[in-house]
Amino acid sequence: MSYQAEYIWIDGTEPSPMLRCKTNILKDGEEPGIWGFDGSSTNQAPGSASDCVLRPVLIVPDPLRGGKNVLVLCEVLLTDFTPHPTNTRAACIEVAERYAAHEPMFGIEQEYTFFRDGRPLGWPEIGFPAPQGPYYCSVGGDYIAGRDIVERHTQACIDAGLSIEGTNAEVMKGQWEFQIGVLAPPAIGDQIWLARWLLARIAEDYGVQVSLDAKPVAGDWNGAGAHTNFSTKQMRESYDPIVAACEALGKNADEHIENYGHGIRNRLTGAHETAPWDRFNYGVSNRGASVRIPWQVEKNKKGYLEDRRPNANADPYVVSRLITETVCSAATID
Ligand code: ADP
Ligand code: MN
Ligand code: MN
Ligand code: MN
Repeated sequence: MSYQAEYIWIDGTEPSPMLRCKTNILKDGEEPGIWGFDGSSTNQAPGSASDCVLRPVLIVPDPLRGGKNVLVLCEVLLTDFTPHPTNTRAACIEVAERYAAHEPMFGIEQEYTFFRDGRPLGWPEIGFPAPQGPYYCSVGGDYIAGRDIVERHTQACIDAGLSIEGTNAEVMKGQWEFQIGVLAPPAIGDQIWLARWLLARIAEDYGVQVSLDAKPVAGDWNGAGAHTNFSTKQMRESYDPIVAACEALGKNADEHIENYGHGIRNRLTGAHETAPWDRFNYGVSNRGASVRIPWQVEKNKKGYLEDRRPNANADPYVVSRLITETVCSAATID
């Protein structure tokens, strides 16, 4: 008997990469190994030297095909087996290893928007739905669009063994969130990318497209972020390192904003539960801050911080690398 291995990788599309996938039929007992693809069709190579290499980094049960079938998340290499320029995982691993003693951990809240026929799911053909207010964490046919997809996606993540923690309907109609964590880098990136693939694949069955656009509808409609919750061992044990981490993030704000996803200035306007992109601040319970310290964390005097700046379309390998580097390079451990 044979089984199916769905190879999944991140391409070179600008300004935001896309996921690509193809199926490999393997014989029973055969492990998913190195494979290749045509990089000239994914913005990763010129036609004259088109071969790129896929190396498996995470293999999980395929919750959609079931049986012995698997999903194979890959990193992209050049034919000399060095990381492809679009491979952001390699740099993430390097930083994770450098600061391993700090034990960095992440939980990411991935927001996204369903689209069908060129407009957000549940929106009227002409005009707009009723203004924001009732949709966040709502129930009922007037407010909710796409829950069947969300249900299937959540169960698929569980069946694949991903560390999904929860889901909720978001502030804009047709917009949702799932959370994954708490995981070390690069596992947080691996799982977010795989969960994004599962979502896009399941939505396909409904003729629905998943948009990670940071501001899918201009105007008085919420954008879509990927709030990134972060802690080190020190932060999980006491409060001063949390404040120090916020200060360190403030000193390196520009580099983070530049790398937190395409269109971030359109989303971080200062309205719609965001802080303006060019004015870093942090605060307890403050959903209008760049970085929020949750109230329980201030109360317990230990825990984690929430970086609210990353876009829905941010690359979690890049975000987790930057936060780890910025915070841990400014901290000393005994
Ligand atoms: P919000 O109130 O911002 O919507 P959520 O409940 O959606 O919060 O998400 C909270 C996130 O915080 C989860 O992704 C979870 O993994 C993360 N988190 C909790 N504890 C830690 C920790 N010690 N370190 C890093 N992340 C954490
Ligand atoms: Mn949330
Ligand atoms: Mn949210
Ligand atoms: Mn949040």
